[in-house]
Amino acid sequence: MNSNVEKIKERLSIVDVVSSYMKVEKAGKNYKAKCPFHNEKTPSFFISPERGSYYCFGCNAKGDIFSFVEHFEGTDFLGSLKILAERAGVELSSYRGKETDKKDIYYEIMEEAVSFFEKTFTNNKEARSYLLSRGLNDISIKSFRIGYAPESWNSVFDHLINKGFKKEDIEIVGLIKQTEKGAYDRFRGRIMFPISDSSGRVIAFSGRLFSNSLEVGLPKNGSPTSTSDIVQAKYLNSPDTPLFNKSNILFGLDKAKSSIRSRDYSIIVEGQMDLILSHQIGLTNTVAVSGTAFTDTTIDNPLRRDSSEASESKINNLGLVRRLSSNIIFAYDGDDAGIRAASRSAMIALSLDMQVKIAILPKGKDPADIIFEDHNKWKDVIKNSINIISFHLDRICKATNDIRIRGKQIREIIFPFMIMINSSIEKSAYINEIHSKTGISENAIIEDYKNYEKVASSATRRLSADKVGEDETKEKIDINPRRDNLEKKLFGIIFWKGENEEQSLTINNLRASFEEDIGFENFKKMLDFYEPFSDTLSFETEMWYGDKIDMLILDMEEIILNLEEEIFREQVSSLFIKINEKEQNNDKKDIKSDLADYQKIVEKIEDIKSRRSK
Ligand SMILES: [Zn+2]
Repeated sequence: MNSNVEKIKERLSIVDVVSSYMKVEKAGKNYKAKCPFHNEKTPSFFISPERGSYYCFGCNAKGDIFSFVEHFEGTDFLGSLKILAERAGVELSSYRGKETDKKDIYYEIMEEAVSFFEKTFTNNKEARSYLLSRGLNDISIKSFRIGYAPESWNSVFDHLINKGFKKEDIEIVGLIKQTEKGAYDRFRGRIMFPISDSSGRVIAFSGRLFSNSLEVGLPKNGSPTSTSDIVQAKYLNSPDTPLFNKSNILFGLDKAKSSIRSRDYSIIVEGQMDLILSHQIGLTNTVAVSGTAFTDTTIDNPLRRDSSEASESKINNLGLVRRLSSNIIFAYDGDDAGIRAASRSAMIALSLDMQVKIAILPKGKDPADIIFEDHNKWKDVIKNSINIISFHLDRICKATNDIRIRGKQIREIIFPFMIMINSSIEKSAYINEIHSKTGISENAIIEDYKNYEKVASSATRRLSADKVGEDETKEKIDINPRRDNLEKKLFGIIFWKGENEEQSLTINNLRASFEEDIGFENFKKMLDFYEPFSDTLSFETEMWYGDKIDMLILDMEEIILNLEEEIFREQVSSLFIKINEKEQNNDKKDIKSDLADYQKIVEKIEDIKSRRSK
């Protein structure tokens, strides 16, 4: 194993590896760049070719080519080994098999299963012609490794057993189901779409029902959305396994990553068909949130997916996409649900300092439909995508001429987006745009916005100093509307308590772990502050989620993650100031414990980062 690592290190320099992911510039005999692991405007990320390592003065990230790829791609050591071995042209065969990690066996099983499904696909003419009728070509079928699971109870099971794999391992990766009567194949009579991690290892499947009996009467082409005979069709996904977490995978990222980087933007679609067709016509910087979104029991028309659920859970995994490019286009379905889902995802992306656009699709169409009709039309849709805030602004203006209603809607719809943005220049550009589109005077907009911001952030000032750094730093900390917005959302959920017992329980558990993470005293302070507004906040929560109440837990997890990061960053910076001042005044008192505290918080931030990239 070591010889493989060394061989790779001999062939690939740290500069080559890092610069294949991001822009670096020479600084003396070293190189510097903006750190991909924390947000910054000026570079504090240094690369030393001599030592073969990197170090960030902002967030203390450090390591070699393997840890860089691990962090950047959100994979594990084996994943980074695979990626770098391929690049270096190093054969890993001797390495395989020696590994005692159980996961390696799971990957082997999945790989064997993919090959098996690919082989049986070549014997199923109907499956192939169905995919061709949807516009896919043979090259796409091959490159996405689409396969077929035969209509049998034990075909893949028997195949894997014959290959020498153990039954319990096959069960763990989700390929078979165990019952009292015995084990049987989970996927039967389905077109199989493999789902890969960012390094290209297959970790799960999404199977589209395709038994011959059901597909009789399927139109060869034409508008599939209007045919009722395929509404029965459904997708079945692998369950969560040690390799696969439904809520964390963006489909197609392994194929899209280099193109996202070189084109400097990504396109997010909802479905597998949307994704594969996009790649087929050359938009290889596309990834999909769906394909991993449906549970075993979901009956769904794959041609008209319900957007919101699929989209939001996956958006948690924006980390890698953001590191590759901060420009992102959401190309969800053109119906209201699609727009809602895109808007929520957009807010998260904005809060991550990304530049967010939305593609405007004709109502009732999804990307696959449009590409199927005319792929140039789809390229135009992407070309004409517009900034998410401008998009909503135009919608408001189109809906009403009444300046009072416009004003109200701007407060309700536009300001929540604006508050997620860090840059004041960008904000003032939006204020200008609102003015020119609505005719409302700039001063009035600014005043309204300031009020909005004040209400939104009145809480932060009092709380932001937290336990660390207490009084002397209080004035130095700016109002942080982002943190405040997150707090309000979180406490809204906490006060609202959930729709049923199960949800309440989960909310309570999440709350407890948040309390523990940030410290009980800090939590108590926040709770006391928000308690008087509990009615309003819980009412807002109810309004916000409406019929999408099942998204609440996923949102809450994301909010907590972001909020913790904000809190810890504030703590780190105030502690930093404190330590600096002490050093200047040569004040040695408690400096050791301050430094230890500092280190502890930095570790907490690291931990959040790794949780996010999982
Ligand atoms: Zn950094």
